[in-house]
Amino acid sequence: MKYVSTRGSAPALDFAGVTLAGLASDGGLYVPEGWPQFSHEEIAVMRGLPYDELAARVMEPFVGDCLTPARLRELTAKAYGRFSHKAVTPLVQLDERQWLLELFHGPTLAFKDVALQMLGLLFEEFLAREDGKLTIVGATSGDTGSAAIDAVAGLDRVEIFMLHPKGRVSDVQRRQMTTVRAPNVHNIAIDGSFDDAQAMVKRIFSDADVTAKHRIGAVNSINWARLMAQVVYYFVASLQLGGPERKLAFSVPTGNFGDVFAGHVAARMGLPIEQLVVATNVNDILHRALSAGDYSAGTVTPTAAPSMDIQVSSNFERLLFDVGGRDGAALAEQMRGFESTRAMQLTNAQREGAARLFTSLRADEHDMASAMRWACEDCAQVIDPHTAIGLHAARAVELPVGVPVVTLATAHPAKFPDAVERATGTRPSLPPRVGDLFAREEAYTELAGVYEAVRDHIVGHAA
Ligand SMILES: *Cc1c(COP(=O)(O)O)cnc(C)c1O
Repeated sequence: MKYVSTRGSAPALDFAGVTLAGLASDGGLYVPEGWPQFSHEEIAVMRGLPYDELAARVMEPFVGDCLTPARLRELTAKAYGRFSHKAVTPLVQLDERQWLLELFHGPTLAFKDVALQMLGLLFEEFLAREDGKLTIVGATSGDTGSAAIDAVAGLDRVEIFMLHPKGRVSDVQRRQMTTVRAPNVHNIAIDGSFDDAQAMVKRIFSDADVTAKHRIGAVNSINWARLMAQVVYYFVASLQLGGPERKLAFSVPTGNFGDVFAGHVAARMGLPIEQLVVATNVNDILHRALSAGDYSAGTVTPTAAPSMDIQVSSNFERLLFDVGGRDGAALAEQMRGFESTRAMQLTNAQREGAARLFTSLRADEHDMASAMRWACEDCAQVIDPHTAIGLHAARAVELPVGVPVVTLATAHPAKFPDAVERATGTRPSLPPRVGDLFAREEAYTELAGVYEAVRDHIVGHAA
């Protein structure tokens, strides 16, 4: 399996290459050069498999000959062995039509663990082959940081520098990062916003003083391996609810478009999906793009669902490439326009291509709170604010009778106890696996929001 860049001019790479590269050298994102297909029969025989075995089957065509099937199976067993639920991503019924797919049973309580537990192992595997090392530099508004740190803590060939905006992540989120004591983990709190932290990280990637000495890697969802791991749970839900004989719809709380793009990939591979509902909060660039073709970034409004408070949705570029004719040169031009004006119109081909599978809905704070209340009072389920946005959209969307809707439950409610308590009157408590979080000692470095201070710290502390 070869991977090509959405902007058409970076070299094609194999799976190991794209895993370690993150972003393509032409500024694009890597996608498979063609979609692997499963027949109806091949999907039907996956029914009843344990999660880790199903994961290996779904990932195998993407991995190509970079891992033997036996080695891939060992890695999925190890990655998903760390989840606190035997089913890894269990389905929960709400009413005759609505279902939740719980993706938060990993070590750090958000769906990011499903992909990052696997990615950490893949880094170690591919770096060992070339006797290499990787320095990960990332910025987080909350969930990616803790999931990535948990996945790589203690690894020999990887070290991680994670920037978070000081005072702007929840106590639970910060402690999940700063109480991990491993020599390869470096937490940095910067004065400034998440956007400031993200801008510094982007500069590091193109700073020759740093890249001459260190190989810099990425853990956010521009990394293809993350999306590949997320395709698996679309198969899991479908097989549980009558697939491949029966179609179902998914509602996905969306920020960077990674999670819902994985659903598009599952459909391309042959999984019968009726519709993918892109659920946004008031930061609704994706809703405007899908409903009106208008992809223009405003300023971020902070909400109770901070992981969806974004204006520029990196993985949307992968969809535009795939449904818009796979023309890298044209897309590079279109994206350059967006990068200079922060606005662009989708082409007709992109709009029509996306409309075949996608629809979108926007939820405000009131919609979110009432979805939390409905789940709590009518279905005995306490859900987090991100999941509530997905559930609001799942209940509002129009679908043929008999098509079940699965909302992806992306975070454990105890990650956002204040918002949950405000809406439902119930304060969720942390599960036992993170129970002593508030007793553990924190370690992090505070730095001014100045690029040179961050760069010098990284260069000074990188092994
Ligand atoms: C990251 C995140 C999202 C958004 O996922 P994308 O792949 O960026 O669209 C939604 N909910 C939670 C809890 C998250 O951590």
